[in-house]
Amino acid sequence: MTLTTHATIGAVIGHAVGIPFWAFIFGFISHFLVDMIPHGDTGLSDNFRVHKRKRKRAVAYVVVDAIIALFFVLILANTRDLESIRTFSWGIAGSVIPDLIVGLFEVTKTPALRWFIRLHFYFHDFFVHRKGDVPLYYAIMAQIVLIAYLQTKL
Ligand SMILES: [Zn+2]
Repeated sequence: MTLTTHATIGAVIGHAVGIPFWAFIFGFISHFLVDMIPHGDTGLSDNFRVHKRKRKRAVAYVVVDAIIALFFVLILANTRDLESIRTFSWGIAGSVIPDLIVGLFEVTKTPALRWFIRLHFYFHDFFVHRKGDVPLYYAIMAQIVLIAYLQTKL
């Protein structure tokens, strides 16, 4: 999923559980479960991992996604009266950290993170490998609808 989707789900979880520690834990777990839904990025990650020349596009997608997520979180934090900015923040942190670890592995290739990468992509590719992926365009449209709905819960 996009980081904006993960972050919004994390924010709603944080809001719902109300305790920073559990906001982080449930946000973290939500990342893996939400990633299981096919979301159109198989082509992008194959481009990154296999076709070196198409890497730029995959990297650009991640950069755009990350900055949109940052702006969206700032908009949420600045436009509503959050009961607890701490649970909001920890929910978001937990829900996006798995992709940070994936990114750190791509940058450092540190073997210590390899088990986590395997775990992440076990969930991420669970249905995609069995049923195939959906077109990225539709996946992004669906995520925009989901985010539009979820932000009403904050
Ligand atoms: Zn992920």
